[in-house]
Amino acid sequence: MTSQNCAHCAGLNEHRLWEGERQRIVLVHDTGFEGWCRVIWNDHVSELTDLSGEDRQAVISAVIALEEALRAELQPWKINIAALGTGAPHLHFHVVPRFRDDPTFPDPVWLASQRQSDRVLPEGFADRMAQRLSLALGASAV
Ligand SMILES: [Zn+2]
Repeated sequence: MTSQNCAHCAGLNEHRLWEGERQRIVLVHDTGFEGWCRVIWNDHVSELTDLSGEDRQAVISAVIALEEALRAELQPWKINIAALGTGAPHLHFHVVPRFRDDPTFPDPVWLASQRQSDRVLPEGFADRMAQRLSLALGASAV
C-alpha cells in the first residue's frame, strides 16, 4: 500500500545500499553527518506495531545489521537510532553514526549545528556497506 505525496512511498533519488521485498536501506547524503542511513519499510504503515510479528523482527534485524555494518566501517563514537516521521508517518528508522567532531555533538542531530565537520566517507564505503548488508540480510535486489 502506498500514499500519495509521501516521499518514502515514492522512494525517488534514493541511494539504496540494500533492498529486500519488504524494506530497504538507504544512505543519506548532504546532511553534514557522514554515514547517516535509513531503514525504510516499503508499505505505508505508521508504527512498528502495525506490522506482524515476523515483520517486526525483520525490520529490527535490518536496523541491527545496519548498526553492525556502520560500526565496522566507521568506528563511530556512538550510534543514534530514531523513528520519528511525525509529519510524514511512514515507518522508517534513522541510524546515524556519531562522532565527537560532528556538527551537533553531543546534542541530537536535529539541533542547531555547532561546528563544520570535515569528515568524509572512506573510499568504497557504499560498496562495502552493500556487501555487509547482503551478507547479514540476504541478497539485495539493488
Ligand atoms: Zn509512505
